[in-house]
Amino acid sequence: MDRLASPLSVLPLVGPARAKAFKSSGLVTVRDLLFYFPFRHIDRTTILSIEKAYTHVKNGYAGELTLIGKVQESKVMNYGKKKILAVRVSDKTGELDCLWFQGSEYFARTFAAGQVVALSGKPSLSKRGDFQLIHPGFDKLTTEESENFFNTGKIIPVYSVNQFFKEANLGETGIRRIIDKALSSYLNFVEETLPSDIRIKNDLPELKETIRQMHQPDSMEMVNKSIIRLKFEEFFYFQLFALSKRERYKHSGGGIQFGVNTSFVKDFINSLPFSLTKAQLKVLHEIKLDMFSPSPMMRLLQGDVGSGKTVVSLIAMLIAIDSGYQCALMVPTEVLAYQHFKSIKKMLESAAKFNSTHPLNIVLLTGSTKTKERKYILDALQSGEINILVGTHALFEDQVEFKSLGFIVIDEQHRFGVEQRARLIKKSGNPDVLVMTATPIPRTLSLTVFGELDVSIIDELPANRIPVKTALRGESALSGIYQFIENEVKNGRQAFIVFPLVEESEKLDLKAAEEGFKEISTNYLPHLKVALIHGRMKWKEKEEIMNAFAAGEFDVLVSTTVVEVGVDIPNASVMLVHDAHRFGLSQLHQLRGRTGRGAEQSYCILVTKDEIMASASRFKQKVEFMPQQLLERLKSITRLKAMEESNDGFKLSEIDLKMRGPGDIFGKKQSGIPDFKYCDIANDSTIMFKAKDEAQSIINKDPEFVLPENCVIATTLERELQIRENYYGIG
Ligand code: ADP
Ligand code: MG
Repeated sequence: MDRLASPLSVLPLVGPARAKAFKSSGLVTVRDLLFYFPFRHIDRTTILSIEKAYTHVKNGYAGELTLIGKVQESKVMNYGKKKILAVRVSDKTGELDCLWFQGSEYFARTFAAGQVVALSGKPSLSKRGDFQLIHPGFDKLTTEESENFFNTGKIIPVYSVNQFFKEANLGETGIRRIIDKALSSYLNFVEETLPSDIRIKNDLPELKETIRQMHQPDSMEMVNKSIIRLKFEEFFYFQLFALSKRERYKHSGGGIQFGVNTSFVKDFINSLPFSLTKAQLKVLHEIKLDMFSPSPMMRLLQGDVGSGKTVVSLIAMLIAIDSGYQCALMVPTEVLAYQHFKSIKKMLESAAKFNSTHPLNIVLLTGSTKTKERKYILDALQSGEINILVGTHALFEDQVEFKSLGFIVIDEQHRFGVEQRARLIKKSGNPDVLVMTATPIPRTLSLTVFGELDVSIIDELPANRIPVKTALRGESALSGIYQFIENEVKNGRQAFIVFPLVEESEKLDLKAAEEGFKEISTNYLPHLKVALIHGRMKWKEKEEIMNAFAAGEFDVLVSTTVVEVGVDIPNASVMLVHDAHRFGLSQLHQLRGRTGRGAEQSYCILVTKDEIMASASRFKQKVEFMPQQLLERLKSITRLKAMEESNDGFKLSEIDLKMRGPGDIFGKKQSGIPDFKYCDIANDSTIMFKAKDEAQSIINKDPEFVLPENCVIATTLERELQIRENYYGIG
């Protein structure tokens, strides 16, 4: 019997009202409560009297401290438009002021005279020498609790008390007491969930110990170790799920074993006007190994724009065709679909000798393909006449049936949903799948989002590329920048000018670009031929403008970011981005990759607000208190400066992940990012990789978890599934 599955009402102090409050908070069983961890631990050893703290700070200590005191008075002071809240707090040894520059009215209500509070933060001395804490973290304490703080000599776990708890008359002390009861009666029934060799090797405490230390800590060191174990375990099981899914897929049987039948593919490679880079050869090798093996391929191909992914994927498709199969290339937008269609055709045609011996039938299918054409395509796909189908979401439709679909390339995968991918894969037995993305994805994130995929990376650009020079400028420099563009155009080059996407509204977005376009064509660059392209245009319209630009009919192309990133205009040597601070680094890096494709030096000019530029100098100054606005500006400038300093997309995406979080890497909110309870994708990469490696080696050695040391994994997975079924009625 699973004692930990007992309902919470078995515990003393938990009557129906509290049981209900727990349930509303998602806590049903004793196990749930044992895993209801404090969100913070206050280290009693860093609690100081105000006098002691003052002495420390005067002697130069600049770290975090916790103080406990009673509110004497709180007042809101007006400084012009600004309101500042000052709260005076004292203990037996002295007093200090807490200051709030933001939310002063809100906090004013919080601090009534007589309230005892625990305050933590970095205290400082004002210019006048007053002892102060600015925007401290705080907990309101009951008298009883404040006694506790001083007397227990322990580390105090702090639990979140939600509205349900409050309504059931459950405060922090109450929660702590109930958890103590649960620990004393039930902790012994907790079973270990990690194999002991892995636990010991990675210096992780046992689960029992982990739970106890989280609730009744012996030291901060043990708390930290426990948190590490929780993170490790979370990602370990996450990876086991993903990897065993991949394993099952690989061994599901019926995968295609492609082979080399003729000199078809070799001829194509030999007839290319360039030789493949080392990185292209490396990933091609990885892809071939997958294709030649009987298990289905599921591979992610990453590489910067222009690194030559399309050629690689085309070679892979030719291998499939050589074995008698059809291929599909799936692309998120019509413009991109058309671009790919054209460039693949061109590549095959320029390899002329090759093409004359093996005519290939490549077609384009999108939402706007005419009915007659569509009918032909659907028939020709079924008869096997078509070798390569390039298209958008239209490929998912049920009427689209292949004779023998063997290989699928998905470009810019993150814009497709997982189900959409699955739907296309279902169209044939077990085709090999190659997912391509030009967004450099930090490794922790790609493990998380693409956990079930193998990864190949092209980390080198073709040798003929000259690195793009990047410059960051304030808006006041604009007229000089336009002068520069005019000169480039005089020398025969072309330029892109990008206005930012206004997330909230496509209308505003369009307005920014339209106004910018007007200003540029009338004020800044009246002598040049300037065109505007935006997301609201039909794709045919966009295509016409793109073609005209490629043909040199315009000098400058003004656009919103919605303009597809697949365009190849080797003659464009300038990329000017307005309001660059609004973009993620990965997006800026992609935009920059639009240039630098020709034989000339290219330039990426990032323009931002003058205030943001000015904040760079403030950065070096020590700022006593940094208002939110300045902090934001400093973040912006730090990110933008990284663009000047680095051409490495992976490095930039790591910076973005740390500074803006995972959602921004893809430019849009990415629905595929799981919500971890303990792991932080941006900051826990070391733990996550350790957990991943352990999961991988178990899957390699013992994919069914039958070895005695891995039994615990089988049991844990089974119980997890059981729990999910009981709670949600799903498997
Ligand atoms: P990606 O799909 O990664 O953005 P592409 O495959 O479209 O890159 O390649 C960009 C351009 O570089 C194309 O014009 C392509 O023909 C060319 N190219 C690809 N591989 C090489 C290479 N090894 N050497 C020189 N040029 C290359
Ligand atoms: Mg491409």
